[in-house]
Amino acid sequence: MCIHDIYFDHGATTPTRPEVVAKMLPYFGQFYGNASGVYRLARESRRAVEEARGIVAKAIGAGEKEIYFTAGGSESDNWAIKGVAYANKQKGNHIITTKIEHHAVLHTCKALEKEGFEVTYLDVDAYGKISLDELEKAITDKTILITIMFANNEIGTIEPVAEIGAIAHKHGVYFHCDAVQAVGHVPIDVEKMQIDMLSMSAHKFSGPKGIGALYIRKGVRLNNLIEGGAQERNKRAGTENVPAIVGMAEALRLAVEEMDAHTQQLIRMRDRIIHEILENIPYVRLNGHPTDRLPGNVNLSFEYIEGESLLLSLDLKGIAASSGSACTSGSLDPSHVLLAIGLSHEIAHGSLRITLGYENTDDDIDYLFSVLPEIVNRLRMMSPLYEEVLKGEKK
Ligand SMILES: *Cc1c(COP(=O)(O)O)cnc(C)c1O
Repeated sequence: MCIHDIYFDHGATTPTRPEVVAKMLPYFGQFYGNASGVYRLARESRRAVEEARGIVAKAIGAGEKEIYFTAGGSESDNWAIKGVAYANKQKGNHIITTKIEHHAVLHTCKALEKEGFEVTYLDVDAYGKISLDELEKAITDKTILITIMFANNEIGTIEPVAEIGAIAHKHGVYFHCDAVQAVGHVPIDVEKMQIDMLSMSAHKFSGPKGIGALYIRKGVRLNNLIEGGAQERNKRAGTENVPAIVGMAEALRLAVEEMDAHTQQLIRMRDRIIHEILENIPYVRLNGHPTDRLPGNVNLSFEYIEGESLLLSLDLKGIAASSGSACTSGSLDPSHVLLAIGLSHEIAHGSLRITLGYENTDDDIDYLFSVLPEIVNRLRMMSPLYEEVLKGEKK
């Protein structure tokens, strides 16, 4: 980049930390051995992978043998859901999820519906939370899997994960949790929360892209997704991506170590943005839960504005943000998450997601405040609807 952008899109991906890159580098040109080899060079690769596995396991309270490396969050979600569905067909064909999942979960469920599985998509309330009552009522004797996200990638709402785990286990149903937005950002304990499978992805916590993991509780019955060699104890084929695995573990180790400090800083900056904008710009609403939300997530709807125009104007000022999720951009449909929390199409279209990272500063936020009100005002002046509103106010 030749310009210095202010990066407010950490929910889409994060810059890889320099310490992480440094830790990865030797595993490209120096320790490049295939971890399956029988010579010394391979042993170093194998040692590094197993050390990384231990670090990742510890970060979520899992056992080392319960962590399987994958190519990222989407693969982990596909594996957990399809793997359990195919392996437990005799027991039942019913899956429970929510209307606000990431597409890696929603589209996987849709694909399974075409194969004869039945899926219940739970509603959420105005804050994006599921109802535990509705969850329990949705369980039948055919239910084999509950898949519900830890924290939503668009509006940041954190679901009552431990309570979901308790309900799942009471009924003998597996619980998969897409925790891609949560790992490295909020404390997670798969034992206390009774999670059976958990998806994570390194590039959402300052690690490299294309590497993730699926935690699979010992004893869970699921089929393989990627067949081939005997890697990952015969469960996930493919030569181990050693540099990425090492980078993922280092990023997660640092994220857990620094979590308390980062959380404090992020919540302060997040709430500063929310309060300042709600106070100074009219016709704006906050999406997501006011307190049970990811530390770095701000999601606002600006009435009488197109979110895309807002993003383009911010981009011209050197600010990178998003509307809804990156996957939704490019399509004309408003975000399924914003519709699920009850927003009208018009209001959903005027949404802005700002996701902060630990390297953001108050100067970044001051700069945002210095350009945003003018942009919002200019865009609204082009809206015929807003003209009507102004006339109404004068009366
Ligand atoms: C980013 C994301 C994914 C997909 O992860 P990738 O590593 O990009 O495949 C899945 N679920 C959620 C909630 C995400 O935020």
